[in-house]
Amino acid sequence: MTTYISTRGQAPDTTFAEALLNGIAPDGGLYVPKAWPRLSAAETAALAGQTYGDITRRTLAAFVGESLSNGVIGDSVRRLEAAFAHPAVTPLVELEPGLFLLELFHGPTAAFKDLAMQLMAPLLEAALAERGEDLLLLTATSGDTGAAAVRAFAGARRVSLAVLHPLDRVSPVQRRQMTTVDAPNVLNLAVRGDFDDCQRLVKLLLADPDLKASRQVSSVNSINWGRLAGQIPYYLAALSQLPAPPQFVVPTGNFGDAFAGWAAGRMGPKVGRFTAAVNANDALVRLLSEGRYVRRPTKPTASVSMDVQAPSNLERLVFECTGRDAERTRTVFEDFTREGAVEIEPKLVATLRAEISAVSIDDARTAEEIRRAWQEYGRVLCPHTAVALAAARGLDRDEGPIVALATAHASKFPEFVADALGFEPEPCPQVLAIGDRAERFETVRPEPEAALAAVRELLAR
Ligand SMILES: *Cc1c(COP(=O)(O)O)cnc(C)c1O
Repeated sequence: MTTYISTRGQAPDTTFAEALLNGIAPDGGLYVPKAWPRLSAAETAALAGQTYGDITRRTLAAFVGESLSNGVIGDSVRRLEAAFAHPAVTPLVELEPGLFLLELFHGPTAAFKDLAMQLMAPLLEAALAERGEDLLLLTATSGDTGAAAVRAFAGARRVSLAVLHPLDRVSPVQRRQMTTVDAPNVLNLAVRGDFDDCQRLVKLLLADPDLKASRQVSSVNSINWGRLAGQIPYYLAALSQLPAPPQFVVPTGNFGDAFAGWAAGRMGPKVGRFTAAVNANDALVRLLSEGRYVRRPTKPTASVSMDVQAPSNLERLVFECTGRDAERTRTVFEDFTREGAVEIEPKLVATLRAEISAVSIDDARTAEEIRRAWQEYGRVLCPHTAVALAAARGLDRDEGPIVALATAHASKFPEFVADALGFEPEPCPQVLAIGDRAERFETVRPEPEAALAAVRELLAR
């Protein structure tokens, strides 16, 4: 039996399926497995000969347990493989001896969010069908999460999806990926405001008593354990191809992707240091260097999907680094929510630093790395990937091969890349496929009444 517990210790133990449906635990904490599933040494060695699908089936079997009926995992993995354009799903590319890119952008929306979202949609549909329930999913997006969710859930029978993006503040490619999908169960709301307004509206809607009374309401951002479970397989796939434990460098916003990598290490395989590469939004760097976790206003950068000031998944790492002390974890994050700042005691900071490093790369260095990767390898990087590769330059290759995660295709962010290189990136097939189809979205004021009215209409369709 695979059981899930809350990082804040005041919610009942639950199953994978319930954690998936709930998103956040009822005590405000995040779900983690009660015990980390372990791969034996033989199983770890056997990963090397397996396909991405095999590795994903094995990983999901460990995390889902018996909470979904037989066959559901196989169906979801087949769907994932069919949705990806590359036979390896997440190819590992050597740039020069000891330095690799793990390409996570071969899915339908050309960003790594597809990897978990394509798995999550059929898993959620199965959980809902078994319960005879319907679900409303709400998500605020600065671009990639919304696009991946729209593609994964369009046409789902038991899920209605409302995606809130800030009007005129996502890239035109990202917007069109969301708004050109014509499905009756999907609603795109362009909010006259910024990303924080979108997040605030989602929080208010998630707590709306009438909505909650009408059906299960949840969210698809990376607080949801289902997202992280779907991101562990590519770490296992990458390390199985390397002769020594790799040092992963993860372009980081909400710390979901990085935590999934850390979790892969907990399953048994040897992994080197984890580096969270962030942009100018550097709360993590300051936490590890100064021992203070402080919320500052979000700075807009070229790596928009990483413009996050309070990485939500840090709570999972703090829980682990306190020796799974739920009381202590709850205090840290309740204080942080209330005060916007919290002191972390030196012993805990030292434990966090033993697990991860954090490096901040500003937009000037990001542009410089885009030029360097073009000159040295003939490769055009997206700004998020460039943040990771720039951070990877500072690591010591004697400590193991370095794997920087390539989280999106450059042609999703043509303006910044063109400014750095002097030419526009070649559009990938996924971007070309958007074509000139009609866009569908509703523009709303940043007020709950307007968003609520639109969501009620969606549910009545
Ligand atoms: C979401 C995103 C990230 C950051 O991932 P987190 O899990 O939030 O840390 C990095 N790069 C791209 C392209 C993304 O869309």
